[in-house]
Amino acid sequence: MSIIFKRTKILATLGPPTSNPEIIEQLIHTGVNGFRLNFSHGDYSERDDQIRWIREASEKIGKPVAILQDLQGPKIRLGMLSENTSVKTGDEIILDYGAKHNGLTFPVQYNLAEKVKPGEPLYIFDGKIRTTVLEIVSGTAIKLRVENDGTLMSKKGINLPDTDFGGDILTPKDLRDIEYGLTKDIDYVAISFIQSADDINNLRQILVAGGSKAHIISKIETKAAIKDDMLEEIVKVSDGVMVARGDLAVEAGAEVVPIVQRRIIALCRKHGKLSIVATQMMASMVDAPEPTRAEVSDVASAVIQGADTVMLSDETANGRYPLETVAAMKKVILYTQDNAPVSPIQDRVASLKKQRDAISAAAVSLAGQLKVPAIIAETKSGATAANIASFRPNLPIISVTSEPRAAQQLALGYANRSYVRPDSAEAGFDLASELKAQGYFGDGPAPVIIVSGQQPGIIGTTDTIKVRILE
Ligand code: PGA
Ligand code: MN
Repeated sequence: MSIIFKRTKILATLGPPTSNPEIIEQLIHTGVNGFRLNFSHGDYSERDDQIRWIREASEKIGKPVAILQDLQGPKIRLGMLSENTSVKTGDEIILDYGAKHNGLTFPVQYNLAEKVKPGEPLYIFDGKIRTTVLEIVSGTAIKLRVENDGTLMSKKGINLPDTDFGGDILTPKDLRDIEYGLTKDIDYVAISFIQSADDINNLRQILVAGGSKAHIISKIETKAAIKDDMLEEIVKVSDGVMVARGDLAVEAGAEVVPIVQRRIIALCRKHGKLSIVATQMMASMVDAPEPTRAEVSDVASAVIQGADTVMLSDETANGRYPLETVAAMKKVILYTQDNAPVSPIQDRVASLKKQRDAISAAAVSLAGQLKVPAIIAETKSGATAANIASFRPNLPIISVTSEPRAAQQLALGYANRSYVRPDSAEAGFDLASELKAQGYFGDGPAPVIIVSGQQPGIIGTTDTIKVRILE
């Protein structure tokens, strides 16, 4: 018997029902590889606890787990209303930064007067109420025409699909949250509502200046980010990309989302970046113990397209069945990976100019010919292992690194199972032997492929493929 690994990973959002050490430990046991801390909600003392619980549970189970800090970005919301307020087609309403609710004047948490232009659309409550900007009435207030009947409620979200934030998408709250994150053990920082590659470069400067080694995930959820060549520009400067299907559907139209999902996953594979498919994957499981056929199909499609990671939001942050949801998702991933190969992409083959790419491609092809049970990657920063993964082998990539941060980041990477061990000339072979003794590769001698650099522990030197037999 050999141990089965799921190759597509699960990222789960923490929320009230899952924010305790016992459930976190059970979620990891059930199949969670990383946790998303959604900085749109919650306070820092709660974050301190969650980060500590995740690290303790991961240590206890002996499985590296990723922590992703998700920055709210310019996710603008209405303020508190004194009561729910019906609006009708043709009504003219005011959104005023910092004002109190009074009749058809509504408070808003962001100064839109500085960003919007007359004629631009503004959607409230996940696109349920559509409006058009008529005029900027003061330094803080804008007037809108309502385009359909509906009801406004406190704190409902606002989308501005055509508004240009001019490279200024990090809010004062985001900057405070980044400062907080710099002091914490965080593997990924996700940035919401990016419009251009500059938004990522800005965040990278702040993180590097603060001494952070966190990887940056760009959330694709605006029209600007998917326009023409911009998407590929964004993929190139990011460490990973999230298909943020919730807001993307509101901003660009729901029919656009499946195609953008395919484009994003293919671009991430082409450039060796991490891809995450997010939102409503198992949405009905917030209230039900079983997924719908459509949800099962959605998860299977992401697996076949070769996504690194599938994400759970409300299912684990607000739902009644968080453990059942993770178990159901894992079942779909395992069945799909065993019965349908990841679809090939043409572009990956075409970019074999770099030595590391060529070695990774050769290792994956050799693995197929020799029918080895795993590829072992000796890696420092995680780059060698991530590069092999970008060729989507249909077998596990066992990574050994001396850097806990790299192991935790690789937890979300396609097919990766990472182990932290001191740097040594035989780190890969020693780890493989250890796993063999635990029964990971079945009975009898098993060949494995070890990919490494000649100088263990040095970043960026992938130059060796070895075939070794485990007895
Ligand atoms: P959110 O991002 O859950 O932070 O809004 C994901 C999405 O929009 O799909
Ligand atoms: Mn979003």
